[in-house]
Amino acid sequence: MTLALIDALQDRIASLDVQGLRRRRRTTHSACAPQLVVDGQRVLSFNSNDYLGLAADARIATALQEGVRLYGAGSGASHLVSGHTQAHEALEERLADFMAPHLVQADALYLSTGYMANLAVLTALASATPGEAEIFSDALNHASIIDGARLSRARVTVYPHNDVAALAQALAASDAATRIVVTDSVFSMDGDIAPLPQILALAQRHGAWLVVDDAHGFGVLGEHGRGALEHFSLKSPELVCMGALGKAAGVSGAFVAAHATVIDWLVQRARPYIYTTAAAPALAHALLTSLAVIDSREGQQRRAQLDLLQHQLSELPLRAGWRQLPSNTPIQPLVIGDNAATLAVAQALFSSGIWASAIRAPTVPVGSARLRFTLSATHTQEDVGRLLDALHAIAKEP
Ligand SMILES: *Cc1c(COP(=O)(O)O)cnc(C)c1O
Repeated sequence: MTLALIDALQDRIASLDVQGLRRRRRTTHSACAPQLVVDGQRVLSFNSNDYLGLAADARIATALQEGVRLYGAGSGASHLVSGHTQAHEALEERLADFMAPHLVQADALYLSTGYMANLAVLTALASATPGEAEIFSDALNHASIIDGARLSRARVTVYPHNDVAALAQALAASDAATRIVVTDSVFSMDGDIAPLPQILALAQRHGAWLVVDDAHGFGVLGEHGRGALEHFSLKSPELVCMGALGKAAGVSGAFVAAHATVIDWLVQRARPYIYTTAAAPALAHALLTSLAVIDSREGQQRRAQLDLLQHQLSELPLRAGWRQLPSNTPIQPLVIGDNAATLAVAQALFSSGIWASAIRAPTVPVGSARLRFTLSATHTQEDVGRLLDALHAIAKEP
């Protein structure tokens, strides 16, 4: 027996290491919160997508326990066989009601992850006209959109980031029977927001679907937390909205909300929905409590706190070569550029008790390695002050 295959992988990993691209996981020993115990050390973390601070909320944890009492640990089967429970059904009804102001004949589908939801939507919509679909995708879209577009076998046209004029040209040049424009609402590594009103107008003019990945907008944007569609007051039968439920909602999974016919089509054709075991019903049950918090006065207060913190963080201390990206969301990136330099700043922060992961290629374009600070409503102004002080000290080092 030779170890040639293992050796080849080890060479590849060694080469990632040399380039400053090797990924390592840190192990946390406490519930998701700004204050964490990581590898035995207490740190202040700016990494999670737990924007509203619900991931460790006692009311939601209790609802999860209640869900386990009612439904046990697992669903036992896929949704179309026997895994679709009253808990899933109740969550989908609640989500459809919640998103109804922005859709026509709104319905919703709960899926195990946002990654799978994007695969589901793109493959199913493209399969309406096999061989005659084209997907128009923003250059900075999330990996799950890129993978969904590939899996759909549609023609894929990537347009420059947020470039509405380029998208208009591409749509005008297309003769595909099914056209699908797809974009992140809030870009996950940049924090900026797509110009959705202009993009929707274009999609409508060209008879195209607009798929919005609202992973970072749902729960955070809009007065009621309905996300980017509420933020921009959009409403259309051609809108398909994906919202993550493991980020601001603090639990797990994702939903697709759209016209009831689109949801019916997903149930018929979306392989990432059909050929997988339904998520644990207890998760769906717990999510009803999350949604109640999101859609409440308390939810509004948590969003107001996020706004406050984000303004506090809107001017980072910089040194030559560093660049803060303009962002009006809880995602605040500091682009450093070089992998090794970014890792060094992350390490210096960690030594002063602050944890913010270094984000490198291929998650972001080569040469734009960055620290990405994400805020949660459970951070305090004192927490953000500590981050600013620590960055200040690092920026002043020779
Ligand atoms: C996190 C994320 C997803 C995937 O959602 P999961 O539920 O974590 O699988 C999809 N799109 C974007 C933009 C995301 O940030």
